[in-house]
Amino acid sequence: MSEEDERSTKQAIVRGFMLRCPSCGVGKTLHSYLKVKDKCSHCGIDLTHARTDDGPAYFTLMAVVAIIFPMFAIIYANYDPSPLVVALSLMGAATGLALWLLPRVKGVFIGLQWAARLYGF
Ligand SMILES: [Zn+2]
Repeated sequence: MSEEDERSTKQAIVRGFMLRCPSCGVGKTLHSYLKVKDKCSHCGIDLTHARTDDGPAYFTLMAVVAIIFPMFAIIYANYDPSPLVVALSLMGAATGLALWLLPRVKGVFIGLQWAARLYGF
């Protein structure tokens, strides 16, 4: 395997999280929020091999729950707020966090698949 064929997993994860092409780091991988582009607009690699299915949704859900649930304990341990205010504000925070995180986790999945040469990458 030549140096040109080596693919950095760490770099692909970081680029995927930044919604960038795992190969060049310049072009974007997604359009219309979650749809994968057919090819990178900068380097032209074929992105149709990406197969993420429900993986990003599961990982996003786990991350959001791991972040939001402890906030209930932190808030109620230190303050005495109205339960309605806490529930509504944390539901809003969870929704916003999930919407922000989901495309980034999908980008990480695409980067991992590209780095591992899965599905024809
Ligand atoms: Zn590219």
